[in-house]
Amino acid sequence: QQHELIRQEKLASVGQLLAALAHDLRNPLGVIRSSAQIVLEGPQEEPIRQEMARYIIDEVDKLSQRLHDFLRYARQKPPDLTNTSAEDAVRAALKQWEAQGGHERIRVEHRFGPNLPPVRIDPEQIKEALMNVLINAREAMPDGGTLTLTTRLGSEGDVEIEVADTGSGIQTDHLARIFEPFFTTKAYGTGLGLTNVKRLIEDNGGTLAVTSEVGKGTSCTLRFRPAGAG
Ligand code: ADP
Ligand code: MG
Repeated sequence: QQHELIRQEKLASVGQLLAALAHDLRNPLGVIRSSAQIVLEGPQEEPIRQEMARYIIDEVDKLSQRLHDFLRYARQKPPDLTNTSAEDAVRAALKQWEAQGGHERIRVEHRFGPNLPPVRIDPEQIKEALMNVLINAREAMPDGGTLTLTTRLGSEGDVEIEVADTGSGIQTDHLARIFEPFFTTKAYGTGLGLTNVKRLIEDNGGTLAVTSEVGKGTSCTLRFRPAGAG
């Protein structure tokens, strides 16, 4: 009975996952199809042709980010822990985020604390977690703003990484739900970003705290024990 119940719950959550995935893939596929159709119907002016190609690239990028969110949610991987500098982890994520574009109106400030002890993390997993946080920050500042990246020693001797934006902020009743799988306020968000971020950070022995004020911005703080501290 117990097994049957668990089996049914699992099937229900697979169903929920597939329904959400189908919903999130449908819209970009529609945009890609109609853009390709316009190019095909040609002849088109060069700027229009370029705009259509740009739509196709942007939507394919969104699709692959979403698929990645879903895969990460469905498939956990144990972290491959190694001593890493928090600053390097932030720089690696920032580089990948900047390569995606869309940050042209966002000012990036670094406040990297000096002489921080290394942390024991999986650099790929923490880069992925930070990327999700950075993408949320970008999406919260469509008209531009300031992104502040800080590394510092916390009051408990933890190494802290803070990502702060000056975006829309999160209202209190939403703040309580941001880690819920599939919770999203975006038209085509997966709602899996922060669920995955929290799990990744906790799998790496860290914690995640989010504070936010509507109209002011949001701050995400990752905390890790320094490497070697028990
Ligand atoms: P998604 O980005 O797909 O919506 P997430 O799990 O990454 O899913 O985020 C869940 C929700 O939390 C978002 O839809 C948004 O409402 C809110 N949120 C997360 N980060 C921020 C941020 N930096 N600024 C404002 N709102 C945010
Ligand atoms: Mg997100």
